[in-house]
Amino acid sequence: MNIVILGAGESGLGAALLAQQKGYTVFVSDFGAIAPNYKTELEENNIPYEEKQHTTERILKAGEVIKSPGIPDTVPIMMRIKAEGIPVIAEVEFAFRFINDAKVIAITGSNGKTTTTNLTYHLLHTAGLDVAMGGNVGYSFARLLTQKRSAYYVLELSSFQLDGIINFRPEVAMLLNITPDHLDRYDYQMEKYIASKFRITLNQKATDLFIYNSEDQRIVDFMATNRVVAQPLPVGAESYNAPYLQVTEALRIDLRNCSLKGPHNRFNARCAIKVAKHYGVSDTLIQTALESFVSVPHRMEMVRELDGISYINDSKATNVDAVYFALKAMEKPIVMIMGGQDKGNDYESLLALVEEKVKVMICLGLDNTKLLANFSPLVEIIVETQDVEEAVHLAKRYATAGDVVLLSPACASFDLFKNFAARGDQFKAAVNAL
Ligand code: ADP
Repeated sequence: MNIVILGAGESGLGAALLAQQKGYTVFVSDFGAIAPNYKTELEENNIPYEEKQHTTERILKAGEVIKSPGIPDTVPIMMRIKAEGIPVIAEVEFAFRFINDAKVIAITGSNGKTTTTNLTYHLLHTAGLDVAMGGNVGYSFARLLTQKRSAYYVLELSSFQLDGIINFRPEVAMLLNITPDHLDRYDYQMEKYIASKFRITLNQKATDLFIYNSEDQRIVDFMATNRVVAQPLPVGAESYNAPYLQVTEALRIDLRNCSLKGPHNRFNARCAIKVAKHYGVSDTLIQTALESFVSVPHRMEMVRELDGISYINDSKATNVDAVYFALKAMEKPIVMIMGGQDKGNDYESLLALVEEKVKVMICLGLDNTKLLANFSPLVEIIVETQDVEEAVHLAKRYATAGDVVLLSPACASFDLFKNFAARGDQFKAAVNAL
């Protein structure tokens, strides 16, 4: 069969490699420029491709289209494909056809996916299970399947990936939370985004497990009116910073040596532990694994302590909810670096926390109007810059021993940086150069 893959990023490449391995005729088409490393890979594997264009006639010959998650359904080529009635699936759906008897653990949510995926993987891996990790983080699921086979796959999934599934069925599904994000892709309708997230449990059977946040009102409301077939396993939110985590009566985990900080991470840990317990990992191994877990870069990452001031990189906090939890986790006065490309942010939920904890705000964005309007009345000092190095120098100047300098932007990074990782890396470089 003829398979056309739209988009040549990590998921498109993975799909192309897997499809080729399985004997399909493959053509990859990307309307933008393809990254040099992916181009080399396509060439080395003799996979035909085009970039900066879509050749409609060739694409419409497809028996099936695998669409990369970044491509909206509304672009012209998708409308044509739809009009022709050609089936369109996500790369994870395609990959799922080839898992044989491997078990899939799939994790979604608006915030905490990468952290919880990494932690779940780490718990299972430390316990000696034959496990691989990927999806929306690291290697795509399809690419993982072209490599050495594993018995378990821990996958981070975005709502865009879930939109393109048909039969994809995780044995364990996890829904961490649902807060407004990416609404531009859902006609600005929250219900559509919520329904998309719940697709993670769509094909689950009664013997499968559905781990969810039982204090997330949007999740609870959806479950009250929609049937979930899998066994529901509710996990309550965490609201305090205790030095231990009481998992069951018998299992109390000491968190003093754990790099995960803040109530949101205690919740993430609880969810990951549920998976580990489901697969029979012992309490002792869970404790050991939590202590050896190194938290993921750019998520509440402790960069350095200098002159009694802690510098924390939370560049991945690209929405308001992530910043809410970052602020909640802080126990010291904050010099906050915030801003970037606005995603239609509503700062209401941050106002009280900012007033209570933030002494100085440094706005790091091309357009800081919205931040200034919301926060000027609440913080003593609020300044603007478009340069991350200057932001760090300003922060150092305003902070005193016992304070924390926190980069937690609440915004996308694309106004001044390539992506959130570049923003975080430049922040860390500037901090380390102080
Ligand atoms: P995602 O992959 O869903 O974007 P990350 O693990 O990369 O999630 O974290 C993104 C941001 O959200 C970080 O700023 C992090 O501190 C914050 N965060 C992590 N877990 C949670 C949670 N359970 N609830 C709210 N915010 C969270």
